[in-house]
Amino acid sequence: MSSSLLDFSALPRFDAILPEDVGPAIRALLESGRALIAGQTSNDVPASWASFVAPLIDSGERLSRAWGIVGHLHSVMDTPPWREAYNALLPEVTRYYAELGQNLALFAKYKALRESPEFATLSPTRQRIIDNEIRDFRLSGAELPEDQKPRFQAIQEELAALAAKFSENVLDATNAFTEHVLEEARLAGIPEDVKTAARAEAEKAGKDGWIFTLRMPAYLPVMQYAEDRALRETMYRAYSTRASEFSAELGHPEWDNAPNIARIVELRRELSNLLGYANYAEVSLVSKMAESPAQVLDFLHDLASKAKPFAERDMRELRVFAAEELGLTDLQSWDVAYASEKLRQRRYSYSDQEVKQYFPEPKVLAGLFNVIEKLYGVTIRSDQTSVWSDDVSFFRIERTGPQGAELVGQFYLDLHARDTKRGGAWMDGPITRRQTTHGIQTPVAYLVCNFPGPVDGKPATFSHDDVQTLFHEAGHGLHHLLTRIDDLWVAGINGVEWDAVELPSQFMENFCWEWDVLQGMTRHVETGAPLPRALFDKMIAAKNFQSGMQTVRQLEFSLFDLRLHHDWPFDPAQGVQPLLDEVRHEVAVMQPPAWNRFANSFSHIFAGGYAAGYYSYKWAEVLSADVFAAFEEARPTDGSVFDSTTGERFLHEILSVGGSRPALESFKAFRGRTPQVDALLRHSGMTTP
Ligand SMILES: [Zn+2]
Repeated sequence: MSSSLLDFSALPRFDAILPEDVGPAIRALLESGRALIAGQTSNDVPASWASFVAPLIDSGERLSRAWGIVGHLHSVMDTPPWREAYNALLPEVTRYYAELGQNLALFAKYKALRESPEFATLSPTRQRIIDNEIRDFRLSGAELPEDQKPRFQAIQEELAALAAKFSENVLDATNAFTEHVLEEARLAGIPEDVKTAARAEAEKAGKDGWIFTLRMPAYLPVMQYAEDRALRETMYRAYSTRASEFSAELGHPEWDNAPNIARIVELRRELSNLLGYANYAEVSLVSKMAESPAQVLDFLHDLASKAKPFAERDMRELRVFAAEELGLTDLQSWDVAYASEKLRQRRYSYSDQEVKQYFPEPKVLAGLFNVIEKLYGVTIRSDQTSVWSDDVSFFRIERTGPQGAELVGQFYLDLHARDTKRGGAWMDGPITRRQTTHGIQTPVAYLVCNFPGPVDGKPATFSHDDVQTLFHEAGHGLHHLLTRIDDLWVAGINGVEWDAVELPSQFMENFCWEWDVLQGMTRHVETGAPLPRALFDKMIAAKNFQSGMQTVRQLEFSLFDLRLHHDWPFDPAQGVQPLLDEVRHEVAVMQPPAWNRFANSFSHIFAGGYAAGYYSYKWAEVLSADVFAAFEEARPTDGSVFDSTTGERFLHEILSVGGSRPALESFKAFRGRTPQVDALLRHSGMTTP
């Protein structure tokens, strides 16, 4: 069969790939994949790397490359034919991967290779690949005695159904509540566009006045800007009692998530015990960088004790301001966002619009490339290939080797929002570095954002948030592109622990807060002047506004999540509220009302993938801040943060090793010690209370 989708010899042929190619090409790959697996699991194939693992890697790469292109086009060119082509094949591809994960004959052969004399002769990288495979099979229950497998399966199915039910209840409860406002005076303070949307909501319902919902674009601005305190209180109460016993007041007692939470906690514990672990926190950490629940708890308690004095200071300042300037002498939960916004405006009077004038796209890109070139001793040049939109550009990264310029990797840059592009920003890797029979296959990345495009022939200007997003995604991209690992399954970001994968991306964000970087990366669209120091100082101060309060809030969620899935003695009659109260007593600087039912809509851990993993947000922030601190420590007196020795060491010990060894080992090799929270505290302005 000749299909551009099945041509793996070079870069994807975006000029030639058609939606109608998808079905035949992907089905051909699924069929040949199944045939290969059947052959590989037969007794004729020895359990060796060359005979058993290598062909599985090759076949897996063909499918992931072809299906990756389809998924990518579905994300950046979501036209009806592409959507149809993607959705038509999605169930078949999902089923294929599910079969692969449950194939016990494959599992047996990986174990045979693990126990064979050959294993000791393999590189540590390949040993790690085999260990990862065996670990994942074990965690999906492959090693259970036959009589326990049906129960394991039943638990997984019930958990999936409970997660879906949990989300549905939150969604239904969110959608069910509306606040109907008839007097215009009650809208004081609310931004015009939010009022217009509320008016449209009322019109849709055939009513006068304005209707506010609990959905984010309405709820957040009301909490931040509405001067009507009673309106804020009503909205806050509705929001923080969603999917709880209070849903009965809306006529829907069945939306209460308390029984779902109880059942989820119970089933996760049973599943963990079947797998031979004491609790679900232990299961969650098997594949993460953190070594044990006790280590994570120590980390969270330590950070809490250091951040709390700053959170208390933030809260004291807020209370004084609210009492003196806003007449709110008894600050309540529904006043916090409102008073904070007023205080923020009072202290840091600059607008995002003002800052944006200094960040025209060409200057920002040149600044980003300059940072990368200085840090890693590479060169970035414009390159040519076929693309999916005229708006997409393409670049190559080169390094000077013994024979002159050597290609390291290539990347597509798709920065501007389009009607057919999914929202958000992300990095993906259509081609991963690996050794092939023809030599080294160099990696390729997509960097996709949704920034405003150029208007009237003038270059686009980016907000400072946009610039940070670009640097963040570039950090993921460099993790993928600068890898020096030759084995596909642990090259680049492949195989990197989930709680460490944000290290390179958050690390890059730091450069957006460096004075000398910004000097070279900014140029006012009209005057041509770089960013003024006074404006930069205000940006830095605003960045750390209430960072203490924000930190303890994240710690509250993290501690609640970890303790719930660790050793907390759950009593279904009491629910999770006593635990949440206990955690809040330790870390929170304002106790919410007794009727607050935050846990009932905490979808991250009850319906998403963050169970016993919410701590990862702060964990990765600590890592990236601590890595950046090494550059600060090496900063020469002239103030530049680009120490080439430190850059080379970061590239060598962390960025280029990917998932080939444990993230903690990589971190220690770079930093000479285990991670410490001090740098994050300092970067967040939490140093001298
Ligand atoms: Zn990220």
